[in-house]
Amino acid sequence: MTSNTTRTESAYDVVLIGGGVMSATLGALLKLLQPDWSIGMFGRLDDVAKESSNAWNNAGTGHSALCELNYTPARADGTIDISKAVGVNEAFQLSRQFWAYLVESGIIASPRAFLNPIPHMSFVWGDENCDYLRRRYEALKDHPLFSGMRFSTDPAQLAQWMPLVMEGRTAGTKLAATWIAAGTDVNFGALTHLLVNFLSGQPGFDLKLSHEVEDLKQDASGSWRLAVRDLTSNATVSVGARFVFIGAGGGALPLLQKTGIPESKGVGGFPVSGQFLRCTNPDIVSRHHAKVYGKASVGAPPMSVPHLDTRVIDGKEGLLFGPYAGFSTKFLKQGSLWDLPKSIRMDNLGAMLAVARDNMPLTRYLVQQVLQSNETRLNALRDFVPNAQAKDWELITAGQRVQVIKKDAKKGGVLQFGTEVVTGANGTVAALLGASPGASTAVSIMLTVISKCFPGDLPRWEAKLREMIPSYGAPLADRPELCAQVHERTTRSLQLES
Ligand SMILES: Cc1cc2nc3c(=O)[nH]c(=O)nc-3n(C[C@H](O)[C@H](O)[C@H](O)COP(=O)(O)OP(=O)(O)OC[C@H]3O[C@@H](n4cnc5c(N)ncnc54)[C@H](O)[C@@H]3O)c2cc1C
Repeated sequence: MTSNTTRTESAYDVVLIGGGVMSATLGALLKLLQPDWSIGMFGRLDDVAKESSNAWNNAGTGHSALCELNYTPARADGTIDISKAVGVNEAFQLSRQFWAYLVESGIIASPRAFLNPIPHMSFVWGDENCDYLRRRYEALKDHPLFSGMRFSTDPAQLAQWMPLVMEGRTAGTKLAATWIAAGTDVNFGALTHLLVNFLSGQPGFDLKLSHEVEDLKQDASGSWRLAVRDLTSNATVSVGARFVFIGAGGGALPLLQKTGIPESKGVGGFPVSGQFLRCTNPDIVSRHHAKVYGKASVGAPPMSVPHLDTRVIDGKEGLLFGPYAGFSTKFLKQGSLWDLPKSIRMDNLGAMLAVARDNMPLTRYLVQQVLQSNETRLNALRDFVPNAQAKDWELITAGQRVQVIKKDAKKGGVLQFGTEVVTGANGTVAALLGASPGASTAVSIMLTVISKCFPGDLPRWEAKLREMIPSYGAPLADRPELCAQVHERTTRSLQLES
């Protein structure tokens, strides 16, 4: 198609770029806080939740630091630093409360459509790792956010918690695990659809699929003008917005660069793709009911911790093991191989070169991961499922992550593994970069966007925010009574009783 006509569309109060869980969460929050604002959501694919938020494109772990060992590093003196774990758990509690509100108010009819209780476990072997896990358990077990956690080195107990993992295991190696019932499996794709369905039923909301945002510029009035390509007609549409959220997943960095705001300078991205082994054989699936996280290998980035997960997707259980890291220059699973080269600018070149120089262990790890054979992949799986057979497991490609590269005064540039909200131009634009802890903490991240970008509206919204999210504004860890109330209420509303 060659048509290139430009027509002007009416402007919105808020434009959400991208149809993933992040845009959907921000859209739902804003619509509930300020129903009269007009919101336009633009997604380049023909449906929402087709990139990282899709159920099989991520691991669906409700990240609350119940099982992920990278959130509880040991200090030099051997004690365990739980501060990051507490922060991640607090963030997940905000999601739980908002989701519970959506169920209680009838916006989401059935929580089981996107959320299921699945115990979270950490599993290690070898004296040193078992000792670390015991110390981690001691540090967490009396904390209100981690209550109910259990620890064992007894093979019979471990076999009860994770029969598939213990089958065919030879005696001799010391094993240890923790188990906690409060864990969840989340179908972020289903959640995105539920949120967008709610938005679609609200006045003043427009969903534009197969619409790719190609450019955005701020005009003299402070509003934004977006050039959006209608991929069906190939026409370019001009869209106005008072506020723009760039929730384009891996596609956020190029769009942030196009804003030209000073905060976009010096920022780069490094794509890491992922693969999982998936098992749908009911005989095997029925012998595992947990998300079991191990320890990352040396040089591996934090999001490469191996884990064996029960997934619940569309009411059916399956197993997923991985991730195996991969490398592609694409920023989106359905992106272009030119994404990485085109993102390199004079202002981020130095930071990107410094990161390449300083991250040789990561480079080695990625090369080794990309070159590994199916047999090597299966051997990694057999650390968790000793009797695994190749015929029961298929290799699937997951979503694409773009890790943030930022300028650093000392090192020139640093690679970050977390998420980063970049805001600028007087709070009229915000972009979400990075992907970890990811979708689980979408509500916490979007509350950050709201506080940074709408400070003038916040006092008016606070009562509603507290109604939806009772712990809004102060950590639950400091308020054990509220913590218990919130846990009880969200467990009931979200049907999380195991
Ligand atoms: C392998 C892997 C495992 C993960 N595991 C977990 C996990 O267990 N738990 C967890 O909480 N998180 C996990 N995550 C992270 C989680 O998937 C992401 O944080 C989350 O899905 C990001 O949502 P998003 O809305 O920002 O992006 P996406 O879901 O990627 O959506 C981006 C949207 O933007 C659109 N888009 C892009 N460019 C444009 C453009 N120019 N114009 C219009 N639309 C555009 C895309 O089509 C898409 O609709 C994982 C991620 C990966 C890759």
